[in-house]
Amino acid sequence: MRSLLFATSNKHKLTEVREILEGRCQITGLRDLGFEQDIPETGHTIEENAGQKAWYIFERFHQDCFADDTGLEVEALGGQPGVYAARYAGPGCSFDDNIRKLLREMDGISNRKACFRCVISLIMDGREYQFEGRVEGEILTERRGREGFGYDPVFRPVGYDQTFAEMDSELKNSISHRALATQKMLRFLSS
Ligand code: IMP
Repeated sequence: MRSLLFATSNKHKLTEVREILEGRCQITGLRDLGFEQDIPETGHTIEENAGQKAWYIFERFHQDCFADDTGLEVEALGGQPGVYAARYAGPGCSFDDNIRKLLREMDGISNRKACFRCVISLIMDGREYQFEGRVEGEILTERRGREGFGYDPVFRPVGYDQTFAEMDSELKNSISHRALATQKMLRFLSS
């Protein structure tokens, strides 16, 4: 089975991608290489950040690897928080702080449409390839569910009654933005 290094310091993403690729690709995490720092992400687009994270790790370990970057684009907020989703409530903020700020910003807004967009950058043989996955949905007015991470408790994908945080990991990992981008990468690797 092929083995690939996932350039992330987010343990939730690592668990999800391992589950998505189970039986098809073995994923090494940065901890397995003794690397425990945060990877810089200073870009202004999801594409830039995904590339920045993947090249950063490639330059340290000289191994083919991939990184993902995800944005939450809320229509009524003009696409915010977008690429800044991780630091939406300010430096050092928690998932809960971000959700609190999002619900406050959307208070009284009836257009709840939002989309998660994930871009994976794969560095292979010294070249970068990108794969995108997106899921349309809506932002609820309150949190529901305890699974997942980040904005999952307030994001309900189109066509489902549950939020990502109410789904079991198998369902989220078959329909999510990260699953779609990862499956595209897998098809590329198999072609
Ligand atoms: P980044 O890709 O690590 O920059 O993630 C940006 C922000 O989006 C972080 O606050 C994450 O918690 C959040 N995020 C990323 N992926 C997901 C997801 O699958 N569900 C919910 N929130 C996510």
